[in-house]
Amino acid sequence: MLIGNSHSLRFNKQMQSIKNKDIAIIGGGILGLATAKALQQHASRSVRHPLSLVVLEAEPQLGCHQTSHNSGVIHSGLYYRPGSLKAKNCAQGREAMYRFCAEHQIAYERCGKIVVATSPEQILALDELECRGIANGLKGLKRIVGEALTDIEPHVAGCAGLWIPETGIVDFREVAERFSQELQALGGTIKTGFQVNQIQEQQGLFILSNGQEEMCAKHLINCGGLYSDRIAALCGLDSRLHIIPFRGEYYKLVKAKEHLVRHLIYPVPDPRFPFLGVHFTRMIHGGIEAGPNAVLAFKRAGYQRNSFSLKDTASMLSYGGFWRMNRKYWRMGLDEFHRSLSKRAFVHALQALIPTLTEDDIERQGAGVRAQAVDTEGRLIDDFRILEKSRMIHVLNAPSPAATASISIGETIAHMAIRNFGLQ
Ligand SMILES: Cc1cc2nc3c(=O)[nH]c(=O)nc-3n(C[C@H](O)[C@H](O)[C@H](O)COP(=O)(O)OP(=O)(O)OC[C@H]3O[C@@H](n4cnc5c(N)ncnc54)[C@H](O)[C@@H]3O)c2cc1C
Repeated sequence: MLIGNSHSLRFNKQMQSIKNKDIAIIGGGILGLATAKALQQHASRSVRHPLSLVVLEAEPQLGCHQTSHNSGVIHSGLYYRPGSLKAKNCAQGREAMYRFCAEHQIAYERCGKIVVATSPEQILALDELECRGIANGLKGLKRIVGEALTDIEPHVAGCAGLWIPETGIVDFREVAERFSQELQALGGTIKTGFQVNQIQEQQGLFILSNGQEEMCAKHLINCGGLYSDRIAALCGLDSRLHIIPFRGEYYKLVKAKEHLVRHLIYPVPDPRFPFLGVHFTRMIHGGIEAGPNAVLAFKRAGYQRNSFSLKDTASMLSYGGFWRMNRKYWRMGLDEFHRSLSKRAFVHALQALIPTLTEDDIERQGAGVRAQAVDTEGRLIDDFRILEKSRMIHVLNAPSPAATASISIGETIAHMAIRNFGLQ
């Protein structure tokens, strides 16, 4: 009896140390893992502050959502407003990503991409992109005209192009997997299959529950991707942002037509819209993808065209910002639905870049769902949005190029946390 009591006391203490953490990070995608790794690296250098940290992931595996459903492009930083969080973190994150992949033997290629103006009306927008690229410090940016365009991409038709040699390709799921290994080697813990659906604050601790089990932490970081707004709401925050899911559907080129694409081929994007337009992407493990489009989705983590969630749809329809967004973008929205339903329309968009492409040359591939924050005025938030509150940090908007920029964003959040959580 006595032995049993002291054993259970010891067991309870052990359980407490497992379940009481300094920091809980919600979300085991590439951002949650990059942030956890950066914090744990800081702690390993600091004698004064040993750190206990846990990453809580709802799914049985890490990186199941945006991290593994994307184009796999290491973006250069061409498109973003100079001085924005995207511009800064993309440039730093891109080089950090290349270094990380080289150090950890992760397959990648700095293969370069071309942005093609397909009509004279797009030349002005191409000029603006070039200026942005220069302002953002891109190296080797080159204007391409005439035959030089087909020297790079023989099957492309266009009046001018912009060659960006710093763009590359990688498998971000592999990168996230390596982040998780590094994190655990440094002493960080990961708990998968733990969907946080309740958060309470008691005596300076956050109590996070999945309905069956509880975890406690002094500090909290929300990297919940498609559910980041709901996690913020569980913490009692009114972020005045709502995640609207946009599905991006891909086709792939049939093997016999892969020779049509040598690098990455992008159109000049519509500046009114945060998405880049359907493009051709070489994949690091072989094959060429075409897409993605950007279709309003009726389920946050729904990868099929008929995916539907009553909860997600109802919360979207009851958000005023959603209706204001529709008023601004209804025309583009309808075009995207059309391209989603009609292969012919999808091919038509791709033919602007490669006119010889036919419907038989592509077949359906998978899809990804973008977590796009929309404000109460219906604006699609373009830049990354990270909100700091007492003992909490919330990543409320982390669209593309957040995978490219993940190492830099992780370090940025870690610095915020060190200051905000008093870990100096
Ligand atoms: C179609 C598409 C193409 C893209 N292409 C590119 C590209 O080429 N290059 C690029 O740099 N970026 C690209 N992106 C963007 C990039 O993929 C994302 O910005 C990035 O993956 C975001 O990472 P994350 O960790 O924030 O989100 P996620 O990977 O979605 O991770 C969030 C995690 O939080 C977990 N979670 C959510 N709620 C809870 C909860 N309550 N409790 C516990 N866990 C929870 C989820 O299960 C998930 O694993 C693309 C995105 C899409 C959708």
